[in-house]
Amino acid sequence: MNIGTYSYEEYLHLVKSFHGSQAPGLMIGGFMVDYAMNSLPEGEFFDAICETRVCLPDAVQILTPCTIGNGWLKVFDYGRYALALYEKYSGEGIRIYLDPAKLSQWSEVNGWFMKLIPKKDQDSEKLFHQIKEAGRAILSKHPIRVQPALLQKEKMGKVAVCPQCGEAYPVRDGAMCRPCAGDSPYVS
Ligand SMILES: [Zn+2]
Repeated sequence: MNIGTYSYEEYLHLVKSFHGSQAPGLMIGGFMVDYAMNSLPEGEFFDAICETRVCLPDAVQILTPCTIGNGWLKVFDYGRYALALYEKYSGEGIRIYLDPAKLSQWSEVNGWFMKLIPKKDQDSEKLFHQIKEAGRAILSKHPIRVQPALLQKEKMGKVAVCPQCGEAYPVRDGAMCRPCAGDSPYVS
């Protein structure tokens, strides 16, 4: 059983070093990315969409050239455990999601995914075993076409120096940069 060009064990190792722990979602995410890649024509350049911020973007970043930093991976915070890979010019591609309708035979996966079992009561050995056993059996796929507006590369536009902090920022944000206008992640 392979995940992308890696064995399951190699992928597990990459997950631990990239993500910090062996998260169940990332193991399933590996099967999802592998399934999507196998459903696309070989040698095609594709971009990716993740419909959750949790775990799944890391599976895409480990297994494909698509990252948040290079802009080929877009993350939508919908909380759906789904991803799509698509041809970057036509927007034609495939969407894979973790399908609740297919979880009935996989009690531990179902309990974890549907949050029926509190974390402290989870049998993680059983959970990971079921994830590995299930592979693609808990996934569904269908073709998609991405909104044309999303196929254009986002541009930063004009840049100016913020009168408040003296750093460069995109002019479209207004008279000063967003942190100086009050939208800062830091305590001032
Ligand atoms: Zn500023």
